[in-house]
Order: sequence, then structure tokens, then C-alpha cells
Amino acid sequence: MPAEPPLGGDLRADFVVVGGGYTGMWTAWWLTEQAPGASVALLEAERCGHGPSGRNGGFATSLWDELAALRERFGADAALAVARASSEAVDAIGAWCEGQGVDAWYRPAPHLVVSAAPAQDGAWDEAVRACAELGEPDRFRELSAAEVRARCDSPVFRGGAIMTSGATVQPARLGLGLRAKLIERGVRIFERTPVRRLGPAPGGGVVAETDGGRMRAGAGVMAIGGSAVLARPLRRRLTVASSHIVLTEPVPDVLESLGWTGGEPIVDARTFLHYFRTTPDGRIAFGWAGGRLAYGARLRGRIELDRRAVEQAARDLVRTFPQLRGRRITHAWGGPIDVSPTHLPAIGTLPGAQVHYAVGFTGNGVAPSHLAGRVLASLALDRRDEHTRLALVEPDPVRVPPEPLRWVGGELIRAATLRKEAAEERGERPSRLAALVAGVPRMIGVHIGR
Ligand SMILES: Cc1cc2nc3c(=O)[nH]c(=O)nc-3n(C[C@H](O)[C@H](O)[C@H](O)COP(=O)(O)OP(=O)(O)OC[C@H]3O[C@@H](n4cnc5c(N)ncnc54)[C@H](O)[C@@H]3O)c2cc1C
Repeated sequence: MPAEPPLGGDLRADFVVVGGGYTGMWTAWWLTEQAPGASVALLEAERCGHGPSGRNGGFATSLWDELAALRERFGADAALAVARASSEAVDAIGAWCEGQGVDAWYRPAPHLVVSAAPAQDGAWDEAVRACAELGEPDRFRELSAAEVRARCDSPVFRGGAIMTSGATVQPARLGLGLRAKLIERGVRIFERTPVRRLGPAPGGGVVAETDGGRMRAGAGVMAIGGSAVLARPLRRRLTVASSHIVLTEPVPDVLESLGWTGGEPIVDARTFLHYFRTTPDGRIAFGWAGGRLAYGARLRGRIELDRRAVEQAARDLVRTFPQLRGRRITHAWGGPIDVSPTHLPAIGTLPGAQVHYAVGFTGNGVAPSHLAGRVLASLALDRRDEHTRLALVEPDPVRVPPEPLRWVGGELIRAATLRKEAAEERGERPSRLAALVAGVPRMIGVHIGR
């Protein structure tokens, strides 16, 4: 597929979207749905889907496992509205693929959270209880060890919980499918077009400035993933970390022996979790969200690909599935994660500009970005509806510390947490110091897991 041309010269559109990941592309999609005659321009620094949207684990999950946290922050009714909207997003992606003829390997399957060490047992209790208390017990419920192992028979699984709303996709196929449909609909896409500034334009509206030109519009959307740390008003609203995935050769015999034939995406209950799934051609994709933190806005290098994180993921894969010893890993990759201090994305409008943003998907953006795109389209259209009234829109901001404290403190806590969780998995008692340092985020009310 050839790249779309970069922006050149001074152009105009009704709406300008910056960032060609899922969030930006769904926003553009919803703008074409809700304002069919409007002109939409999308500016992408590289190629659409080049970022995490084209290379994630493909877990399209809802937010029922966040219901306790949502309730604590926003109250019961608002929490339920967000969780319901998130599972509608999972279904809507499937319906969109079907309706548009996009084969993104969308496969509905329940999402499992499992314990892989005694310290992880019951990590789901609060969310399971919240679902039951708010009248939705079937959304997220506990499974015994036998029930978990009937779905996937890893020797390290000790029990878990099942979230009925979920699916998997092939991430790049979804990204490229969206891109193709936007072009078909007349959205003007400019690739290899890094935007230097998106803000108010003299005389009204907004302007996106690039090295090659300017795009003026009535309203703008900033959907640039972890690069949002570059935007001054959002700098303290997220931390950028990294996540890595290894992909095995086809191992249908192993999947058969594990009884893992239902396509369930699975995560363990670590802070820096492992996430794993099967693919239609019988592989296992195994991810580990324990990669390094970015210092400030330095998002390249080992945030994109870190050999040590890949090696760790490969070791953890074999610990989880010893049957894979000796089987080949054919691909490995990584990418940045925009970690929100609340573990929940935040959607809003920049002060003093018609520029709307979504940040902080925290490694869980495949389905929520569909929802965010819908909200962002309504905000850009200056409409208030059931989506813009969701509690994820303009939540009370929670801030992370400034640099260098964020990186120094974050890396110390990451190292301590990794040591603690590795000891727990070995059945050992973690050192007092590691346990103490790993407990700091909870003490100060900041979420560091992904
Ligand atoms: C390895 C990995 C595995 C993951 N696994 C999962 C998973 O299984 N399930 C899940 O739900 N989530 C997962 N995630 C997270 C998920 O991929 C993201 O939350 C989601 O893709 C966010 O999409 P986005 O559009 O907001 O951001 P991005 O995909 O980051 O897109 C932002 C785009 O903006 C562009 N951009 C940045 N700056 C500029 C600029 N100045 N000008 C123009 N363009 C710019 C970038 O090039 C990029 O294309 C994973 C992420 C990684 C890295």
C-alpha cells in the first residue's frame, strides 16, 4: 500500500485530526458518520497504524475489570455507564469489520485474568465484587483453578476470573483496514507529516503546523498516543513505558495439549503483566508490559525495542508454557505505552483551544480507542451526547511527578516491583526493601501497572 503524500502548502478542512493510530482514525471515521458533508484531514507523522495501534497484542477488552476503580472515582452510575460503553465498543469493532468487509481477524472470546503466583490470587476480587454489587455479576466472575485450566492448562495457573465481553483482532489489519476505509470516504490523509504545533489560529479555529505547510480547521483533535507528553498541558498526565511481544512459530499441537482452543486472550495479575493469546494460524503471542520508562519525551530507542525486554518475555513464555521449550520464536517487537496514573484514559479539551485529546490508555486502548474516537468526534462537532457525558471526559486530573523525579522514582519502583514479583513467582518471600518500594505507588495513589 503506497504512503499518502505529506502535507505541502496552506490548506483548510473543517476538522483536522493529528495522529493516525486507532484513536485518530476512529475519530475521523465518526466525523464522517456524524457530519457527512464535512471535510476531514488526518496528519500522521509516519504511516497510519505505524505506532502501537498497528503492533499491539490485539486484545479488544472492555473495562468491567476496572469497575471497582471506576466506582471509587466516579460513583456507581457513572462507572456502569463507562463499563457498558466499553463493551459496546468491543462489539462495535466486530460489527464495523463485518459491515465494512475488513478482515481484521476479529474473534469474540472471553478475557481471562489469571493468578500465576500465590501473591496474585484474588487480584480480581474487588472488581468481581463491584460487578455483583452493581447488578452485573456475569460481566466479570471468578473461576476456580480447574475452570481456568480447562480453558488453558498452564501449570502455573492457580485460578482467575472471566470477563465475558472481549475479542481479539490482528492489530495491523485493523489499522490498515481503517485507513483504507477513511480514504474511501474522502478523508484526506497526509503521511510522513509530523505536526510541530496544534493550537489556536489567528482569527479563530485551529491550525496544525508542519515543516511543509499548515492545515487550518474549525476544530482539531490530538490523538498522538504517548507523544502527548510533548504537549505542555498534558506533560504531567501520563508516563510513557514500554511493552514487548514475542510470537512463536505455529504450535497447534501445543495449543491442543493445553486445551487452549477457545481463542481466549489471557493476562496474569502482575503489576507489569504478561498478556498472551493465540492466533488463527496456531501461534502464541506473548507480551510483557514490564519495559523501561521513557525519560521525559525521549520515546525512541529502547522504548520502541529493547532486546533485554524481549529476552525476558521469551523466558516468561516458557515458564508459563514449558511445552514451548525448544520451539522457535519467529518475531519480536515492542512499543510505547501511555500510562495514566489512574489506569483509565482521559478525554478532554486543551485550555484555550478547540483542540480535543485522548490520552492514557495504559496498554488497553484497542477497544477504548473506538469509544474515545466517538467522544472526540462529538467534542469536535461541539455536540453534547451520551458519549461526551461519560466520566472519562474531563475527569479531575491526577498528575504524575515532574522529571527527573518521575523517571528516577519510576525506575526504582519498577525495579523493586520486578524483583518482588519474580520472587513471588518462584515461591520465595520478596525482600522487605523490594516490597516497601513496590508499595509506594499505592501509598501515594498513583497507578503504575499496565
Ligand atoms: C506492544 C504493545 C502491545 C499492546 N497490546 C495491547 C492489547 O493487546 N490491547 C490493548 O487494548 N492495547 C494494547 N496496547 C495499547 C494500544 O496499542 C494503544 O492503547 C492504542 O493503539 C492507542 O492508539 P492511539 O491511536 O491512541 O495511539 P497510537 O497508536 O500511538 O497512535 C498515535 C499516532 O500518532 C502519530 N504521531 C505522534 N506524534 C505525532 C505528531 N507530532 N504529528 C503527527 N502524528 C503524530 C504516531 O506516529 C502514531 O501513529 C499495546 C501497546 C503496545 C506498544
